[in-house]
Amino acid sequence: MINYPKYEENLSLVRARVARACELSGRSESSVSLLPVTKNHPVEAIEYAVQSGLKAVGENRVQEASDKRDSYTDELRWELIGHLQSNKAQDAVAVFDRIQSVDSLKLLRRLDRFAGEQGKKLAILLQCNTGKDPNKYGFAEEEVPSVIEVALKMPNLQVDGLMTIAPLDDDPKVAGAAFKSLRVLRDVLSERFAVPLPELSMGMTADLEQAIAAGSTQIRVGTALYGEREY
Ligand SMILES: *Cc1c(COP(=O)(O)O)cnc(C)c1O
Repeated sequence: MINYPKYEENLSLVRARVARACELSGRSESSVSLLPVTKNHPVEAIEYAVQSGLKAVGENRVQEASDKRDSYTDELRWELIGHLQSNKAQDAVAVFDRIQSVDSLKLLRRLDRFAGEQGKKLAILLQCNTGKDPNKYGFAEEEVPSVIEVALKMPNLQVDGLMTIAPLDDDPKVAGAAFKSLRVLRDVLSERFAVPLPELSMGMTADLEQAIAAGSTQIRVGTALYGEREY
C-alpha cells in the first residue's frame, strides 16, 4: 500500500486531469464527482479518502465492503460498483448506500423487497452495457426503457441514473462512443419518463477524459489514486 503523501500526489494528478478535461468541454469541475475505488485495497485506502475530504467509496464485493465497514465508523457513503448476485442482495442492501451495478430485473425486484424490509429507500443506478462488450455485465441499451419503467414504480428504490463500464480498447474512440451512448440514453429516458436521472457514472483511470467529455457526473477511480490493486 502506498503512503498518504503519495496518495495526495496521485489525487492532485487526478484532479488536474479532471480540471483539464472539464476545461476542454466547457464544464465546471464541480459537475464531476470523484469516487475513489478502494476495492482490493486495505482499509487505509478508505482512511486516505476520508482524510482528503472525499465523501464516498466504491467497492465491488459485499463481504469485503461489510468487513471494511465494520472497522470503519466515520460518515461515508458506500457504493457498490461490482456485479451483485441476487442471493447476496439482502446483505448488499444492508451494507451499501447506493448500488450502481443493477443489471437484472430479478435483482431489481429483490433490492426493492429487501430495502422495504430494512425500512430503507435505496439509491440505485442501472448498469448499461452501451459498449456491447460481451465480457461486461449490464442491460443492453434496448432493454433499459422497459426496465426503468419498472424501476421507477418501485416504492423502495430511488433511481439516480445510469452507469457503464467502457470496453477495454487501445482506441479511445471506443470508450468515447460507449459514454456518448449512455449520455444520449439518459437524455431520452429522462424526457420520456419525466424524471431527472442526474447521475451518469462513467469513466475510470484509463478513460476518464472521454467520459467527462461525454457528460460524466461521476468518475470511479482506483489505480490512478492507489496504484495497482494488491489482491
Ligand atoms: C475497479 C473498477 C473501477 C476502477 O478502475 P481503475 O481502472 O482502477 O480506475 C471503476 N469502476 C468499476 C466498475 C470497477 O470495477
